[in-house]
Amino acid sequence: MTASDPSKPFDTKTVGVLGAGQLGRMLALAGYPLGQRFAFLGQSQQEPAALLGDFYSSEQQPEAWQVMATECDVITYESENTSVEWVREIARTTPVYPGERSLYVTQDRGREKALFEQLEIPCAPYRLVNSADDLQQAVAELGLPAILKTTQEGYDGKGQKLIKTEDQIDQAWSELGHKPLVLEGFVDFQRELSLVAVRNADNEHEYYPLVQNVHHDGILRYTIAPARQVSPEIQKQAEQYLQALLDELDHVGVLALELFETADGLVANEMAPRVHNSGHWTQDGAITSQFENHVRAITGLPLGPTAPREPICAMVNLIGEIGPVERVLTLDNAKLHLYDKTERPGRKLGHINLWANTETELFATLEQLKPFLP
Ligand code: AMP
Repeated sequence: MTASDPSKPFDTKTVGVLGAGQLGRMLALAGYPLGQRFAFLGQSQQEPAALLGDFYSSEQQPEAWQVMATECDVITYESENTSVEWVREIARTTPVYPGERSLYVTQDRGREKALFEQLEIPCAPYRLVNSADDLQQAVAELGLPAILKTTQEGYDGKGQKLIKTEDQIDQAWSELGHKPLVLEGFVDFQRELSLVAVRNADNEHEYYPLVQNVHHDGILRYTIAPARQVSPEIQKQAEQYLQALLDELDHVGVLALELFETADGLVANEMAPRVHNSGHWTQDGAITSQFENHVRAITGLPLGPTAPREPICAMVNLIGEIGPVERVLTLDNAKLHLYDKTERPGRKLGHINLWANTETELFATLEQLKPFLP
């Protein structure tokens, strides 16, 4: 581990990021103003963050994680699909935040739901499914409609199948049945919300306001922040759930919780041990962005205030194609963020953050951004 330089007025660190996608890129962009340095371990030099750091390690090299452990002061990761073994090995010599348990739990829907139950956080009824017979039994117990999901490596709605009628059960099994699965009862929700929080090793906690997320084909398309008509009680409830998770996991860094709002209150869907797409609005809309707060938390700095800087904000994802983004540059209440990725259907290529004084004003700007919405 590199020793921090006592001659420097501020204790800056080299942060090693496992993964070199857009989340790593935005972590570095937020961390450099604090004097932090970055290094990335990725799959290819074409990835959004690969060449943004002091050095780049390729996953193809078997010893890549050891280079990160040796050359960096602290390690973080940008995906819950990161190898738990790497994190365990690296942690022998170099701190890894969030820690191994946060990663282990959040990379498997079954473990995540077991933790929700342990902490009495409401979630959809579910059954683990490892065979066609299990699936029949699970459907008999939970009823239909229900959603069959792979327990691991699902993202952006991939690896899941809605089962509405009994004749769809075999089809769902043949599409997904080669992996461990979970069947979830269908939640009759009014809207989807999420909460992003951050905790540091001094046990400081900060919470952003609940935001509303709108998905299309399983992919987040836009976020409204803060979500409209959220009572202080609902915000408090969501924070209590997240605090229970942060403390139980001894989590250091950002943790995001996706929730369904139902007539009976909040129901947890899933969580992510990292900065989250529904928190991108904080770059232009909050006093401290989720990216800066993650960097602060993992480098041992005090957390920054999470209050919104603007009355109402939105974040619009650019999916599959960039579109006529030049028009964003002419707006005085929007910012363009591109990830330097090539166009491909369903791929997240960038986002637009916008803000306004009133809901009417925000929706008028969203109207101008129609080409980017589904
Ligand atoms: P996930 O990958 O679990 O976030 O699921 C992707 C999307 O599918 C969610 O954002 C919801 O719109 C929908 N969804 C997932 N699970 C359920 C459920 N149990 N009931 C109803 N809708 C769901």
